[in-house]
Amino acid sequence: MLKWILSVVLAALSLSAYSFSVNGSKWPGGSTHLHVGISGLSASGKAWSDAMLRAAQEWNDKTPFDFTLLDSYRDPCNGYRASATSSGFPAGPGDDVNGADFNSTVCGNDFGTSVLAVTLVYTESNQLGASDITQADIVFNSNSRFDIYDGPFDSNRGTDFARVALHEVGHVIGMGHEFSASSIMRDRIGNLSTLQPDDIAGATTLYQGYTRCPVSRLDFGRVTGALNSGDCTVQQLVGGGTDTSLTDVYQLDLAQSTRVTLNMNSGSLDSVLVLMNSRSEVLEIDDDGGTGCNSQIVRTLPAGTYAVLANTLTSATGDTSCGKNNGPYQLTARYDSSALIGAGRNTSLQGGRSSATFAGGVTTNGGASFSNRVTPTQRFDVLGRITVDPAHRGRQGFLVIAAILENNQVYVRNPLGEFVPLGSQTSPVPFTTSKILGATEDVTLLGQAVASTFGMTDTSVRFLIGYGLNSNPDELYFHDEPINLLVSP
Ligand SMILES: [Zn+2]
Repeated sequence: MLKWILSVVLAALSLSAYSFSVNGSKWPGGSTHLHVGISGLSASGKAWSDAMLRAAQEWNDKTPFDFTLLDSYRDPCNGYRASATSSGFPAGPGDDVNGADFNSTVCGNDFGTSVLAVTLVYTESNQLGASDITQADIVFNSNSRFDIYDGPFDSNRGTDFARVALHEVGHVIGMGHEFSASSIMRDRIGNLSTLQPDDIAGATTLYQGYTRCPVSRLDFGRVTGALNSGDCTVQQLVGGGTDTSLTDVYQLDLAQSTRVTLNMNSGSLDSVLVLMNSRSEVLEIDDDGGTGCNSQIVRTLPAGTYAVLANTLTSATGDTSCGKNNGPYQLTARYDSSALIGAGRNTSLQGGRSSATFAGGVTTNGGASFSNRVTPTQRFDVLGRITVDPAHRGRQGFLVIAAILENNQVYVRNPLGEFVPLGSQTSPVPFTTSKILGATEDVTLLGQAVASTFGMTDTSVRFLIGYGLNSNPDELYFHDEPINLLVSP
């Protein structure tokens, strides 16, 4: 865990164009806390702590960043260890607490000429290039004369503390200095006292998260995609760094702890897989962990939301031994589980609500373990389980089993056990079994099947299971994540 400190300095003077600056470091998840409890009042009788609170609140209100603001005081120099480094401000272990106060020195170091405040930003390296901020403390120069007032800079009253605080809080969230635009993040303080469009644009760029790039849902199974010039880059995605490689972004939702295997294969591009958690922290990067130049990540992940980046190298590396930096790819998501896995949230055809839950899985050993992948010659079962809404139990109803092939053709299993194409008639819902619904319905979607006997050797099938009530034969309660069967040699 590499930590270092970046110090950012604000000097007194005046101002004027456009283009924000972010130093690339940011808080994972776009949020942190800040202790604003600086004691005492300004010459005009206003509390320093109120000005600090309002400064941070303005960034909260006008940008995607989210501060938890705490009234209490914390010494910004706590955990700061004075030992020389090349930056002029020594590195320290930090205390993971963000504080603010006046001090006659920067925790023992000279402020330098006409410096009003210094924000000490502790960062930690992040594998995607832009580092994560782990702590930030503000030290205001107590040798300077401060007051709190509105309007233009007034040399008779000293410097308006409120706008210096607004500027320093910008550094806390990772904003750098702006040298041309009309902005609070100018390196010289002036007449501006509120966040300007340039400041807000900068913070938004930094904290929009991976919604800056189009996000597709990743279900277990496989998808084909392509990286083409004009697609999102890692630099755009993380809002910093220098990585201009192309990337597609997928969201993987896990309802329970799951062992996941991700593969990105391509015959033309050098595949790279990146796995991130919901705070955009990189969990793993793989370039050539799969067969040949393909990439693979195998990991047991706790329940939660993850981002999977189908990525490649930048052309700048000049290494073409593993293919190009653009082109088509195939992304495969597999799981291994000792039990059936959840099949997403419940949904319905007609919008009816239910508390039903759905799970499913593929087993080659009679239910001892589940996966979604079989070889063409393996014998397997596809099993599902429906927990029926209590209000629907004991009522006359029906079960539906449907299969969606890779060409998106939908088949429904009929009461004779045959999968038949779903025709134009969907009302009433074509059903598989008619029965009185129990509390739990265990469903065999395919029993003791061998894929090659269906002519399937390399394909992905998505299954859905659902149920309905005879009293409302147009309604079907089912789930939004298919039960996947992946057949591959
Ligand atoms: Zn500054």
